[in-house]
Amino acid sequence: MVSSRPMIMMLFLKRVEIDLCSRRPESARRFLLVGVAQTPAANQLGLEHRVFVLNTKPDPIVCFNPKIVHYSEKYAVTEEGCLTFPGLFVKIRRPQWIRVRFHEADGSMRTETLNGLAARAFQHELDHLDGVNYLSRAKKIHMDQAKKKQKLIDRKLKRMQLA
Ligand SMILES: [Zn+2]
Repeated sequence: MVSSRPMIMMLFLKRVEIDLCSRRPESARRFLLVGVAQTPAANQLGLEHRVFVLNTKPDPIVCFNPKIVHYSEKYAVTEEGCLTFPGLFVKIRRPQWIRVRFHEADGSMRTETLNGLAARAFQHELDHLDGVNYLSRAKKIHMDQAKKKQKLIDRKLKRMQLA
C-alpha cells in the first residue's frame, strides 16, 4: 500500500488541477470576489481514496488517511464555501483548533496542531471523506442568509458579464 501512495498522489494532484481549470471560466470571478481557499477532497472528484489536499502556503499538504485525535473545547463560527456548491458561503460552527494525524505521500506519519483556516479546511475535507455535507452542519438562519447573498453575487456577476 505504501509503495502505491506517490502514484496515487500524482494522479490525485492531476485531477485537482483539471478540476480547478475546468471550473475556471464560470466560477473564477466568483471565487475572486469572495476569496475562498480551495481544498478539494478525493471523493469530491470521484476518487475512492481517503486523501485530500490542504492548500497551505508555501506548499500544499497532501493528507492520506487523515484523522482528528483532539478537538479544542473552544468553538468558532466562520463562513465556509465548497467546490460542490459554488458561491454558497455559510456560517458553520466548528472547534477552533484540532490535533490531527495523517500519512504523507512517502508513507511517514505526521501529527500536527492546526488552527484557524487550516483547522477548518481539515474538518471540512474530512467531512467530505465521511460523506458529511457542510450544509448539514449549518443553522437554518445562516443557510437563509447565505442563499440570499449567493443570489446577490449571481446578479452582480450577470451584470458584469453583460457589461
Ligand atoms: Zn467542500
